[in-house]
Amino acid sequence: MIIVMQPGAGEAEIQAVEAKILAHGLSVHVSRGTERTLIGAVGDERVLDPEMFDPMPGVEKSMHIVKQYKIVAREWHRENTVIDVAGVPIGGPTVQVIGGPCSVETPAQMSAAAVGVKTAGARLMRGGAFKPRTSPYAFQGKGVEGLELLRSAADTQGLPIVTELMDARMLETFLKYDVDAIQIGTRNMQNFDLLKEVGRVNKPVILKRGMSATINEWLMAAEYIAIGGNHDIIFCERGIRTFETAYRNVLDVTAVPVLKRETHLPVIVDPSHAGGKAWMVPALSCAAVAAGADGLLVEVHPNPCDAWCDADQALTPSEFAVLIGQLRAVARAIGRDL
Ligand code: PEP
Ligand code: MN
Repeated sequence: MIIVMQPGAGEAEIQAVEAKILAHGLSVHVSRGTERTLIGAVGDERVLDPEMFDPMPGVEKSMHIVKQYKIVAREWHRENTVIDVAGVPIGGPTVQVIGGPCSVETPAQMSAAAVGVKTAGARLMRGGAFKPRTSPYAFQGKGVEGLELLRSAADTQGLPIVTELMDARMLETFLKYDVDAIQIGTRNMQNFDLLKEVGRVNKPVILKRGMSATINEWLMAAEYIAIGGNHDIIFCERGIRTFETAYRNVLDVTAVPVLKRETHLPVIVDPSHAGGKAWMVPALSCAAVAAGADGLLVEVHPNPCDAWCDADQALTPSEFAVLIGQLRAVARAIGRDL
């Protein structure tokens, strides 16, 4: 960290800053210029924060010089990390597709969805049992029964399962049903206690981007998980809020190459919650794969019109199958497969 002193800062003020740096276990490097003094804090500056120095007398501003995330940073781990989700590698040369309904509804809906997802060529199945709904009066998900339905429908097709965890108190139950990848939704990206809990288990985590989160905040959220020992983290861009109201969210395609550069961890894209309309899903999916996404999370329902949640954005199994064919061509064009 560098602390820039105001022109005319006195010796006592400089010494107070030095003392604070030393008290945190770092060493000090002072550079006295003609106009102002710069104080460098040398060591692991992650324990320091500009807030510690900015209010001190004589300080103009202070700033970090290294990134605040470490375990997730490509800087410290050059190779791509490939995460094994129950035998399906995510982050390798193959682009993986996760398909399934927004929410688990009935045994018939789930078995038709599982067949559709498998037949289309996707390798993993999604389905929400615990739903974060804007309205408390809306369907909240089937809960544990939903986990059971998802697990058994997916098992008949040999598909690993992905489902959202909203409450750390359900984590044991998720492990009991052997959820293969735990999804942290956009609304919980900065639920730090929840992140710490999934950081302690040995299950891949799909970390969705907060709808108003910066790239840095998203990476820091992943670092919360990683610091607990769980490094199997998959980032999922799902659209961000902007001034635009013509579609649900704006798919931030730029985030894909930026994140791939910043982190060694896989990056997938959810085109369904980004556009919010089924007809937008193919275009957004192609864009995501072309931009380098390692996978897609797509909502698929055997009968979208009757879906209990996010009906307008679900693909039918046959639309999903057509899309996978198109995506395969896009993936091949950039030297990957699908
Ligand atoms: C979902 O995947 O069904 C979901 C609720 O996603 P998000 O957290 O991105 O809104
Ligand atoms: Mn949904």
